[in-house]
Amino acid sequence: MAEFDLIERFRQRAGQRADVILGIGDDAALLRVPPDALLVVSADTLVAGVHFPDDTAAADIGWKALAVNLSDLAAMAAKPAWATLCLTLPQAHEDWVDAFLDGFLELAAQHDVALVGGDTTRGPLSISVTVHGFAPAGQALRRSGAKAGDDIWVTGTIGDAAGGLAQWQRQGLMSAKLRHRLDRPTPRNEAALAVRGLAHAAIDLSDGLAADLGHMLRQSGVGADLDLGRLPTSRSLADHFPGEAERWTLQLTGGDDYELCFTAAPADALAIEQAFAALDLTATVVGQISSALGLRLNTPEGEAFVLPQAGFEHFREPT
Ligand code: ADP
Ligand code: MG
Repeated sequence: MAEFDLIERFRQRAGQRADVILGIGDDAALLRVPPDALLVVSADTLVAGVHFPDDTAAADIGWKALAVNLSDLAAMAAKPAWATLCLTLPQAHEDWVDAFLDGFLELAAQHDVALVGGDTTRGPLSISVTVHGFAPAGQALRRSGAKAGDDIWVTGTIGDAAGGLAQWQRQGLMSAKLRHRLDRPTPRNEAALAVRGLAHAAIDLSDGLAADLGHMLRQSGVGADLDLGRLPTSRSLADHFPGEAERWTLQLTGGDDYELCFTAAPADALAIEQAFAALDLTATVVGQISSALGLRLNTPEGEAFVLPQAGFEHFREPT
């Protein structure tokens, strides 16, 4: 397939929004930013073999490439609007590109996101997406807003994607549910908008709760106590990883959850629970922010849990 045919495919399927004055097809897109909002921009790249197992279906790669980006907008409590897509492909296989777009655009449609441009090149498979969204000035959530005494909330369940990846790496028994959570993460954009105004700080969980919460703690100048017995755990994860030390390690250091972690005053707990009930999503208080620096991991027996390693880091030397 020629590059022009590829681009024509993207153009035909890109999705419509009234604020897209000119989308795919020219040298650049022309987009209208609402006068009263801040433009919120984030980019993330997925590289084959690093960010997804090499047997991942094209549609799942498309979904995930957008999902991890939407998740960053969720963490800022920004409403998504536009995406650009830079695709590096070993070959321009029509079927692969169509399936990739099926996954990407299915999620884009769910969030009313229009594909407004991008770039297509040949090389080892890599997908780089930039998303653009809006937040009213002063209402975006930052990592730096956590206050001593806040509850620490986590949406959904955590550790599932890491469990799916661990099973894939061992090539033994594999849970389809865990693998699905690895391949098709659900960005929590509606949840983030629902707690905007209640939450003090937020971060999305891409590299594991311990590492990501750690970023929030450092940027907020506070510490935290986590109750490991309260980590929200799916039935599948509990069934496949019955040992709690291994399960906690997956939940604390495994990546790819794309759940939202946020903090809020305990007085707002009821309002937050009601907001989540309306969304048919669970959120769980897993600990408290403290003025004592550092992250303390407490077992249900009141003992300190020691992690074998922190979250995923691309440039860490193997030890
Ligand atoms: P230029 O050479 O001027 O950068 P291109 O030929 O790369 O233009 O792109 C032509 C049009 O197609 C542009 O509007 C660009 O944004 C769009 N485009 C190219 N690749 C992609 C892609 N992977 N996804 C979405 N739009 C794309
Ligand atoms: Mg040009």
